[in-house]
Amino acid sequence: MTDLFIIGAGTAGLSAAIYAVRAGKSVIVAESGTYGGQIINTPDIENYPGIAHISGYEFATNLYSQATDLGVKVIFAKVEEITGDGPFTIKAGKDTYEAKTIIIATGAKNRHLGLKNEERLIGKGISYCATCDGMFFKGKDVAVNGGGNTALSDALYLAGIANHVTLIHRRDSFRGDKADLDKLNTCDNVTFLLNSNVTGLSGKDHLESIAVTNVKTRETTNVPVSALFVAIGQEPDNQIFANLVDLDEKGYIKAGADCETSHPGIYAAGDCRTTSLRQLTTAAADGAIAATAACTYIDRN
Ligand code: NAP
Repeated sequence: MTDLFIIGAGTAGLSAAIYAVRAGKSVIVAESGTYGGQIINTPDIENYPGIAHISGYEFATNLYSQATDLGVKVIFAKVEEITGDGPFTIKAGKDTYEAKTIIIATGAKNRHLGLKNEERLIGKGISYCATCDGMFFKGKDVAVNGGGNTALSDALYLAGIANHVTLIHRRDSFRGDKADLDKLNTCDNVTFLLNSNVTGLSGKDHLESIAVTNVKTRETTNVPVSALFVAIGQEPDNQIFANLVDLDEKGYIKAGADCETSHPGIYAAGDCRTTSLRQLTTAAADGAIAATAACTYIDRN
């Protein structure tokens, strides 16, 4: 019987694991992909208090080592099913685990544009990760779609690699940090296409061009690019928990500031839960809060 079973080895899940293991509890973290979560793909983090600059990869690797060095057990398997009312039985990969509490920290998955040819051209010019794939397009013309922190940091990163970057955003103002926008404005190889959506993707074996439609004029222009980096946000992936905990209308897990879900003994931390801010700092903070609440629950029951 494990004290805490944590689903997701991103910032929220690993932060929760560190807090729980330091509180003397046994912890298993299950991860269906690689450790680190979304932040592992961020080229440069500049807004984590106390760390002026760090790459997402280094941050995630430090966090993972910190947790495992403290004795957290990480298993790389997808959680398929959770049964029981507490304690819980968790089926992950080929194995079954028993746990007193569960912390769901599954983050969110990249939103796709939903355009014809998008799925076919993934890995052939369509990418959702600039740090993973940017170097393939060294010296080429590329585009980034989105107006949040990911789009701005992707565009900045690509401006240092590509010949030219077109940043396409559906509104005339960005929700991403002004600091990154100011830096982008100084890049002479970045062009902004605002009030615009990507409406078409063309290319036989590889992306060759994108259609961009201005939402005000309805005019569509063809932009030749070798790659389009889609950075239009994330969607939750919580359907397997829908019979256990309440979800909101967008599919995020309903949990308060204390990270408690509608099911006693189950907590939700980080980007998978309803919250007004999804940042590295809030993911780490959620992990600490959820783990502390889960430890209290164990001690009281
Ligand atoms: P985001 O903040 O949700 O931004 C998504 C962007 O895509 C928005 O500008 C949105 O437009 C646009 N968009 C959404 N759906 C679209 C569609 N169907 N077609 C065209 N555009 C669409 O997502 P994100 O940039 O990936 O960031 C996710 C979270 O991670 C945020 O909280 C962000 O601050 C955080 N993050 C933090 C760091 C860091 O701490 N260093 C780095 C990266 C990301 P509207 O603006 O019009 O809604």
